[in-house]
Amino acid sequence: MFAAYASTPENSRGRRIAEEAPDYRTEYQRDRDRIVHSAAFRRLEYKTQVFVNHEGDMFRTRLTHSIEVAQIARSIARALHLNEDLSEAIALAHDLGHTPFGHAGQDALNECMREYGGFEHNLQSLRIVDMLEERYAEFPGLNLTFETREGILKHCSRQNAKTLGELGERFLQRQQPSLEAQLTNLADEIAYNNHDIDDGLRSGLIDINSLQQTELFGEQYSLVCRQYPGLPERRTIHEVVRRMINQQVTDLINTSQEQLRIVGPTSLDDVRNHGAPLIGFSASMHKKNRQLKQYLRQNLYTHFKVLRMSNKAGMIIRELFHAFFEQPGLLPHEPQDRIASSGGSKDETARIVADYISGMTDRYAMAEHKRLFLHNH
Ligand code: MG
Repeated sequence: MFAAYASTPENSRGRRIAEEAPDYRTEYQRDRDRIVHSAAFRRLEYKTQVFVNHEGDMFRTRLTHSIEVAQIARSIARALHLNEDLSEAIALAHDLGHTPFGHAGQDALNECMREYGGFEHNLQSLRIVDMLEERYAEFPGLNLTFETREGILKHCSRQNAKTLGELGERFLQRQQPSLEAQLTNLADEIAYNNHDIDDGLRSGLIDINSLQQTELFGEQYSLVCRQYPGLPERRTIHEVVRRMINQQVTDLINTSQEQLRIVGPTSLDDVRNHGAPLIGFSASMHKKNRQLKQYLRQNLYTHFKVLRMSNKAGMIIRELFHAFFEQPGLLPHEPQDRIASSGGSKDETARIVADYISGMTDRYAMAEHKRLFLHNH
């Protein structure tokens, strides 16, 4: 059923702490189930990417985004005879380490943490599944398989890689991750580009006219308008976005299939040792994607209304960080206890404060900010 180069429980590098094989699930299904039951996963419901959670209920949250990524990743994995369960587990875990308020929050926290090792959402996702989740008697974290953890760590600096043991090796030796990790990374890209169009149009921050400048949207939009003249706008947009996703997924599957045929890997090790990723878009789709991203950057992510939200978000994160770091007594018991039982260095205190803040949902961060800085709260 699986291709020779797929990840399987048989060629898995296993878990950090050995466990007996599950009775009714595969190892990667077990990973997925552990992720779904984690506290960090539930919090994704109230964390955002572009729009702040309280700005509206119709926008994607990181939870619905992660579910969309899992859906796309599974379709691709199945078509390529790769491990669907592993792709799903990676997809559901890929955003666990994000701070509240999307990239604005992460940038602010990284800035606050500059002298204490920085903050990076990818590494934080790993920290969550490796140590911060407290759900099992036998081990800290979720004790996931090597392959799921490898997929979570999409990128990593050489400096950080040196501290990560076997997981960091591929960044030092320029090896590739599994195909399941490669495809889930691109499924993430397909999901967010397309839902940002959808959410961007719904919010009124971008419009159909200007979006038509991009080939990906423009082509499908004129096709749909020709085929269904007079279709109401919402349905037109959804039909266009649906076709765009389909077009990108199909391109990715076809291109990757061809690439795998030409290179001919016969094992997972061949995949890892190949000089470049084997999953990818065609050159023309890659170009169209770049154009779309550029459009979103210029028109949505830097729209003044989005920048106002980001600005506010950055301020909240910075003020929370400085208040807690300078006076840890303001923290609730749990992080305070962790500081007390740590070595007490500035680095450790800063890291525990960053864990606490990055774990917050958008609305919890706003509520904490009010409780610390406003009267009557
Ligand atoms: Mg994502």
